[in-house]
Formats: sequence, C-alpha cells, structure tokens
Amino acid sequence: MVDKKTKRDSAVSEHEAEKKVTINLECCVCRKYISGMVVVQAMGQNWHTEHFVCCACGTKLANQSYYERENNPFCTTCYEEKFCPRCTLCNKPIVDTAVLALGNCWHQGCFKCNNCNEPISDTSFELYREKAVCSDCGKLLRKLKVDTTAF
Ligand SMILES: [Zn+2]
Ligand SMILES: [Zn+2]
Ligand SMILES: [Zn+2]
Ligand SMILES: [Zn+2]
Repeated sequence: MVDKKTKRDSAVSEHEAEKKVTINLECCVCRKYISGMVVVQAMGQNWHTEHFVCCACGTKLANQSYYERENNPFCTTCYEEKFCPRCTLCNKPIVDTAVLALGNCWHQGCFKCNNCNEPISDTSFELYREKAVCSDCGKLLRKLKVDTTAF
C-alpha cells in the first residue's frame, strides 16, 4: 500500500515537470512567436529583431536609440527630419533647444545679428528695421540714427 502511494506521487510530479510552460512571446508585427532569437521589448510590445525597424526607412532599431510617435518607431534621423522644427537659416532639423524669434525657429548658433553676425539669444536681440540685431548693435545703430537703406 505504502509503496503504491509513493509511486503514484512521483508519477504526478514527473508529469508536471514535462508540462512546464515555455513562455512564447508574440511579435507584434508578424504575430509569430519569437523563439531562439533576441526579443526586442519596446513600446510595451515584443518584436523580432528584424521587425523592430524604423517605420519610415526600415533601419533596424534594436540596440539603437529610437523615437516613438503615434505607436510607430522611428530612427533618430527620420524622426528629426519629419518632426523636429527646421532652422530658418540652414534648413536642418533642430534637435536641441530652438531659438524662437520673429515667428521662426533657429539653431542657437544660427540666429545671428544682422549687423555683426554674432549668434544672439532669443532674449537679448533687438529689431532694427525688422531685422534681428544683438543688443550691442541695436544700441549702436540707434545712436547713429543711420538713415540710409544700406542696412
Ligand atoms: Zn516578427
Ligand atoms: Zn528611419
Ligand atoms: Zn541652423
Ligand atoms: Zn551685433
């Protein structure tokens, strides 16, 4: 009797061991299980490495920095091209702080005084004949009261 009980118990535990659940992660793009491959976990979803790509250019984004917009992954280049404001002077995307002046966006180094060509900040420029000048040039120009069309 005792022997029989022990046997049955060990059979049950063996069976359970076989049924050990293997976690299958589903790729949110192709809906196939990701197995034996590196799982990319991003944006709250699981992706095959080859399916986690920039939705604009198809660049693989695993182990890269990426941007998320409306649940679509973008590589940094595409994101900046599409969504960052463009500099009025050089027409390139502004990734870091933009200078907002005169209704336009500028790189910090691209917003320059129209008189001395030194970069100016959005808080310290003045307008002279509807052009941005640095405060030094503004003072100078007002002092000279230049009445020509040369500027
Ligand atoms: Zn996939
Ligand atoms: Zn891209
Ligand atoms: Zn610029
Ligand atoms: Zn100046």
